[in-house]
Amino acid sequence: MSKSSVTLCYPVYARFFLLKNGIYDSMIPMRLIDCGVNLTHASFDKDREQVLRDAEAAGVSPVIITGTNVEESGRAQRYAAACNTASVKKCFSTVGVHPHDAKTCDENTVAQLRALALRPEAVAIGECGLDYNRDFSPREVQRAWFEKQIELAAELDMPLFLHERDAFDDFYSILQNIKNIRKIKKAVHCFTGTGRELDAYLSLDCYIGITGWICDERRGVHLHPLVSRIPADRLLIETDAPYLAPRTLRENRRSGRNEPRYLVHIARYIADSIGKDPALLARETFRNACEFFDLPRDDHNEQYYFGAIREYPAGNIPQT
Ligand SMILES: [Zn+2]
Repeated sequence: MSKSSVTLCYPVYARFFLLKNGIYDSMIPMRLIDCGVNLTHASFDKDREQVLRDAEAAGVSPVIITGTNVEESGRAQRYAAACNTASVKKCFSTVGVHPHDAKTCDENTVAQLRALALRPEAVAIGECGLDYNRDFSPREVQRAWFEKQIELAAELDMPLFLHERDAFDDFYSILQNIKNIRKIKKAVHCFTGTGRELDAYLSLDCYIGITGWICDERRGVHLHPLVSRIPADRLLIETDAPYLAPRTLRENRRSGRNEPRYLVHIARYIADSIGKDPALLARETFRNACEFFDLPRDDHNEQYYFGAIREYPAGNIPQT
């Protein structure tokens, strides 16, 4: 059944019921990339392989494992390497230090990050940025290590996977003051900010990552009108699992653990809230993730990637 026939067959209240109960999620198959999953988190220690299999069965593959400090970035990279074969890549990783962990950095950190970033599984520098919500690291230390990681991304010509919470002014002014910042690809992951902040990020040509935060009736409602302002070629979707389980899903209420397979629910929720065909949103965000992280076109994603590529002007179609 196509999305349009689902839309025609089911009025808004019925679609809301189906969405809320997770039924809608399985009605139309689509392929998604989870741009941010903390797969090295201890809550996945007992069933990490099953979580990945469930994600793939739901159509969520590949996934990008977020690195949050040197040790976790190393674990993410090694895990991704073990998942992949020469022809099929199911996991990639980012390499970076979260602002919470900035205080753990020392004179060896940049060299360690650089060595990991040069591995084939590593596709971005981050997550890095500023978090003044918790202040787990002193703010001046956060700022210093944020700047060092931007320099590393520029040096290696890699995209930046960015984290900002309650720190917009400092965060934005650091980005703005970097020479040639427009030449570095940037994604503001788990965007939860205001319209003014969104416009500022878009003016720097940032990609915007939206998570299941948008499904939260207490604190995500303001995102609904904002997401429709994100250009189709700048939207990324992510779970940030095991955090931020979508509150509109009943399935995981008991465990409270988010998983990459729930990205299907998040994608449909976003599509519904902005009135877009979920299949189109899936194609657009899949292509955006491939382009942002510069993912290889392997046997696993070729069909989807080239399916999306056909929408480009003829001159840009790669030779096969
Ligand atoms: Zn984050």
